[in-house]
Amino acid sequence: MAITSEPRAASDSSGVDPDGADRPDVPGIVARVRATYDSGRTRPMEWRLEQLDGLVRMLTREEERFTAALATDLGKPSIEGYLADVKATINEIKDVRKHAPKWAKPRKVSLPMASKPAKGSVRPEPLGVALVIAPWNYPIQLLLNPMAAAVAAGNAVVAKPSELAPATSAALAELLPRYVDPEAIVVVEGDASVSTDLLAQRYDHIFFTGSTRVGQIVMEAAARHLTPVTLELGGKSPALVDDSADIEVTGRRLAWGKWLNAGQTCVAPDYVLVTERHRDALVESMRAAFAEFSGGDTRGTPDYSRIVTQRHATRLEGLLADHGGAVAIGGEADPETRYVEPTVVIDPELDSGLMSEEIFGPILPVITVDSMDAAVDFVNDRDKPLALYVFGEDDEVVESLVERTTAGGTCVNHVILHLTPSTLPFGGVGASGMGRYHGQSGFDAFSNLRAVMKKPSNPDAKLAYPPYTSMKERILRRLA
Ligand code: NAD
Repeated sequence: MAITSEPRAASDSSGVDPDGADRPDVPGIVARVRATYDSGRTRPMEWRLEQLDGLVRMLTREEERFTAALATDLGKPSIEGYLADVKATINEIKDVRKHAPKWAKPRKVSLPMASKPAKGSVRPEPLGVALVIAPWNYPIQLLLNPMAAAVAAGNAVVAKPSELAPATSAALAELLPRYVDPEAIVVVEGDASVSTDLLAQRYDHIFFTGSTRVGQIVMEAAARHLTPVTLELGGKSPALVDDSADIEVTGRRLAWGKWLNAGQTCVAPDYVLVTERHRDALVESMRAAFAEFSGGDTRGTPDYSRIVTQRHATRLEGLLADHGGAVAIGGEADPETRYVEPTVVIDPELDSGLMSEEIFGPILPVITVDSMDAAVDFVNDRDKPLALYVFGEDDEVVESLVERTTAGGTCVNHVILHLTPSTLPFGGVGASGMGRYHGQSGFDAFSNLRAVMKKPSNPDAKLAYPPYTSMKERILRRLA
């Protein structure tokens, strides 16, 4: 089942459902999905594995449809669309499919002497109906990975893709019902108003990926029903470049982090902290990297994405217009064609938009600091980031920088890649989110980890029952 509220054109970024026509019957949809869950259909492992197989089959067979949709929505080069959205999702789902039968089994735990004789276990059981709300930047991965985790854990799912990636949203809504159980896994298309309708319903888990601002709205809505949430949010992810770093490689990797999807990646490096000693060499290394990536024609190369909407491109143009720093690389923005050049700005004012908002585009401020101690203070004075990157060859310094800061995740000497292995739990901390997923952490996020203790009826020592004689009390105190 795929329910659609007329998707808007890619360039229309008003965020408003134009006429309210074709609005999905949200309460009816959620009630139907709940009825499916209540029927017990989603619980058997066989059903769960069939759905995961269906998702992999869909992504494999429909690869071209999906990469074309990503190109329409974001101008994504097809290799980036394939690797970062289609293949990354296939890999994650295959891993979940392989391990789900084991993760779903009761997990034996040891019990203390005082509890014996008894057996203890943790039994993962499905939570019920999960709502998954996704953003537009990796619109396949960020909808299907949580969906796969929810299904593997035996839940039914209502999923809302982002209206700002309308071609991908439409492809998902059209194709999913052909590959997975349409009574238990339902896509509802639409904008923020549909999201609001969805959030008015009761779920057993809400998994939201998007901005911190909307994350707050989601959490408030969830609180009404005491629904647990996983919030995968954004924020400013810093990169600390120690003097011991390999500056050439560091520059290339940072440049790649901003080039990929034109910087519209939740864990893209948002700004760089470096001492004056290596700052200019770092900027030169980034210049060389961008020139190499673009072949000298950033606008013309098919290997560089566009900004999702004119509104977002205008927002980025605004950030470039007023920052008080020095533009060292790039600087061109053309909202009409949704093009923003990879740009490096040295030392923008700290209260400028560039340094107070999440950039979410191909602009990289480089901030000069006196030392890595100052860099640590700078980072710790701000919201806890989703990702924090450390570049350096001196292991002791690197370890100390990791230890003295915090973040949802960290990659040393590279960017973004820590989110790819399913064995590394992915998520934020503080303002960048709560909860984890990927691999088993995703399975557990959508499970009730039920604690079960099994006691034999005999022996049934009278010791623990009243009346509490002084002798019983003495023994109980010793045993407790
Ligand atoms: P967004 O918060 O604007 O939208 C995300 C989803 O929420 C969309 O489906 C949208 O329709 C819905 N929505 C928008 N306004 C709403 C409202 N008022 N009430 C209810 N629902 C609403 O985010 P976005 O612009 O799609 O994505 C960019 C943000 O997402 C960035 O901050 C980025 O860092 C973050 N992000 C985080 C991760 C992560 O894994 N932590 C991944 C990708 C993006």
